[in-house]
Amino acid sequence: ARPGARGAPAPTRLSRLLGVPHIATGDLVRDELASSGPLAKQLSEIVNHGKLVSDEIIINLLSKRLEEGGDKGELGFILDGFPRTIRQAEILEGVTDIDLVINLKLREEALLAKCVGRRKCSQCGGNFNVASIDIEGENGGPRMYMPPLLPPPQCESKLITRADDTEEVVKERLRVYHDLCEPVEDFYRARGKLLEFDLPGGIPESWPKLLQALNIEEDPDNNRSAAA
Ligand SMILES: [Zn+2]
Repeated sequence: ARPGARGAPAPTRLSRLLGVPHIATGDLVRDELASSGPLAKQLSEIVNHGKLVSDEIIINLLSKRLEEGGDKGELGFILDGFPRTIRQAEILEGVTDIDLVINLKLREEALLAKCVGRRKCSQCGGNFNVASIDIEGENGGPRMYMPPLLPPPQCESKLITRADDTEEVVKERLRVYHDLCEPVEDFYRARGKLLEFDLPGGIPESWPKLLQALNIEEDPDNNRSAAA
């Protein structure tokens, strides 16, 4: 099943609301691989050998994408999942101006439960989540509730778990992530561009609060109207 607009993650929703493209670097790599673009051959060798795509290649793909967007009259963009390292942030400075960096933070116990709860249907490819999160608020904050995303009956017996979605592996991924990302947060904080946002739960609880934090109003016609 294709997820409806209500279930779409925050970057996708923001991009729709603001009328700017959502650019995820993983998609840029996949698109280049699928095309016969100039980097496709080099990329397929890297990916086939299980190596990481270098910052240079990512930035190369990204600047090409931003340039094409500029030619088409795009007025901005939402970069998703990039930069992840301080080096990428520094290179990005030379490519484009970033107005704002939003750090969407989910409490670690909720993040862990959501990662370990991921399931995929081996038949239709649908993504589900069996984790039901209901935890006490921190420092007198509200209780956090995130319902599971359960599969329809026909998928129930065909669910698979990714081999690396174990608590141990996820904890290690989070540790690596924090080591890499904390300097990136500091980088943008020092430039006055970092917005820290603690996710209060799933999208239904988070979305209105995120818009409030960004000073954006969503009118019923779903057109943007920025109050800033
Ligand atoms: Zn299925």
